[in-house]
Formats: sequence, structure tokens, C-alpha cells
Amino acid sequence: MINLIIFGPPGAGKGTQAQIIAKKYKLTHLSSGDILRQELKNGELGKKIKKYQDAGQLVPDSIIIAMMEKAATNKIKGRGFIFDGYPRNIRQAKSLDKFFKSHKISLGQVLNLRLSEVVAIRRIILRGKTSGRSDDNLKTIKSRYKVYRTQTAPLLEYYRAQKKITNIDGQLPIMEAFAKIETVIAKIAK
Ligand code: AMP
Repeated sequence: MINLIIFGPPGAGKGTQAQIIAKKYKLTHLSSGDILRQELKNGELGKKIKKYQDAGQLVPDSIIIAMMEKAATNKIKGRGFIFDGYPRNIRQAKSLDKFFKSHKISLGQVLNLRLSEVVAIRRIILRGKTSGRSDDNLKTIKSRYKVYRTQTAPLLEYYRAQKKITNIDGQLPIMEAFAKIETVIAKIAK
């Protein structure tokens, strides 16, 4: 089993890389953003999620942690996971560690896509033209970025302490970044 986390700021290309990785290595792709968006039409819960997403804030841990655990437990018999957009803060990371432990599996590597804020914001604005996502606009992006810097980026230290981080240049063309990722996976799959 190979368990990975794809990490990086909004606009880094996490979703794109996660899809390619999942396909090639037959992993279960768990995108917290997608899982939350699937609930948007779901009455009161959907309204609550939309409120946080549109403000560029994190959805409360009490909602997302349970959803991710359920989704992962459903696929525990698979070849492994690629977590995308999750964890986003220390509490989520600790809960994921617990999940791994309770199923006697472990985290392979955190693939950290690095790129400048200017490039990331430009990409999201472009994506907004076709994504239909109400949070792909300049105002929301600014707040998503701030949340990334204050709540999510500190996880790099958390995983560095576990010696689990590999940096990947997120400004490379998609398949060039993926080639780098393949060499990382080849090492941990041994
Ligand atoms: P994403 O699709 O990963 O860019 O996520 C879009 C939005 O969904 C975020 O701005 C948050 O509002 C929410 N979201 C996604 N993942 C998480 C998470 N792990 N914890 C809390 N909120 C999340």
C-alpha cells in the first residue's frame, strides 16, 4: 500500500497531479474540496459548507474530519490513498495519523508542490473562467492564501519532523512535475 499526501497552496496543481498519480498507481484519490462540493446541494449542511468555501475559510474540523474518515475507511482495502487538500491544519493531520495507526498503515510521503504566490493566483483566476467554482475569484483567493499561510503551511514543519516531505517544483509543466513525483514514489514503493 502506498499512502501519499499532495500538498501546496491553492493553485499549485494538487488536483491535477493527484488525478494522474491515482490513475497510474491505482490509488484512491480523496480530495476534501471535491468531497465537500458534493455536499453543496445537501440542505443545511450544504449551506454551511458554501458559506465557508465562499469566504475562503476552512470548513470546521468537526465536519471535514468525519467525512474524510468515512471516505477513507470505505476504501481501506484498496492499494492506497492520495490525499488532496487534506489535512489543512494540525488537528486534521493528527487525526489522519491516528487513522493510519488504527489501520496499521503508514504515510509514504508528502509531495509538496512549491510555486510563487503570483503564479498560483494567476492560475486560479484562469481556472475560474471555466471551473464554475464560486471561490475562484480574486477576493476569495486572497483569503484562501492567508488561510494557507497561517493554518496549513505549518504542517510542513510537522511532516518535516517525521522526515516525510519531498519538495516538487510546482511551476514545471504538468508532466515534468509528474516525472519528479514518479521518482519519489519509486523510492518509497521499494
Ligand atoms: P480546494 O478544492 O482544496 O481548493 O478547497 C476548496 C475549499 O473547500 C477550501 O477553501 C475550504 O473552504 C474547503 N476545504 C477543502 N479542504 C478542506 C479541509 N481539509 N479542511 C477544511 N476546509 C476544507
